[in-house]
Amino acid sequence: MASETEKTRALLQSCSPQSLMCSLGLGVFCLVVDRLLQFPVIQQSDWLRALSDNAVHCVIGMWSWAIVTGIKKKTDFGEVLFAGFLASVIDIDHFFLAGSLSLKAALTLPRRPFLHCSTVIPVVALTLKLAMHLLKLKDSWCFLPWMLCIAWSSHHIRDGIRHGLWLCPFGKTSPLPFWLYVIVTASLPHVCSVVMHLTGARQIMSSKHGVLIDV
Ligand SMILES: [Zn+2]
Repeated sequence: MASETEKTRALLQSCSPQSLMCSLGLGVFCLVVDRLLQFPVIQQSDWLRALSDNAVHCVIGMWSWAIVTGIKKKTDFGEVLFAGFLASVIDIDHFFLAGSLSLKAALTLPRRPFLHCSTVIPVVALTLKLAMHLLKLKDSWCFLPWMLCIAWSSHHIRDGIRHGLWLCPFGKTSPLPFWLYVIVTASLPHVCSVVMHLTGARQIMSSKHGVLIDV
């Protein structure tokens, strides 16, 4: 278990100028890329629109996790890629709900598919945490529920600018303002880091990655 001094150092590192610059970069990326995706050349093609939209979810997931793990040092690039995969793979539920591999069917659903319900995120994350505890995987895989939270939250928040957040069974919000999406996405990795500190998960991850406790 890390000492209080180590925890304080690690907390400071997660809010270091480099880390904040990376978050600022993430915010600028969101600001620019979602404007670029509005270009007619992309909007006029269903496939191009779907693929580029999904690729942006992937990049935001990767970027967010790279900030959480500390991109200056020994970031495990495999983990970063996996975070991107998690952030983009949930769109597969469009095809499940459509019961078809047709993109047109997947884009014209009568309701939102289940992985786009935001209350599913804490349920799946807590179930994963419990499963890993029971399987005694909690040290080596302790990052997984956090990665899932940040990857899926970033996806839901970005989808929220068009559809709002769906908080089943309580209903859904209005579409999120674009500025709110940018701010929340850019600050999400830091919020995640701080909560991980408070729960002790970050200290376990730090010893695994060899990062953050050596300012
Ligand atoms: Zn989506």
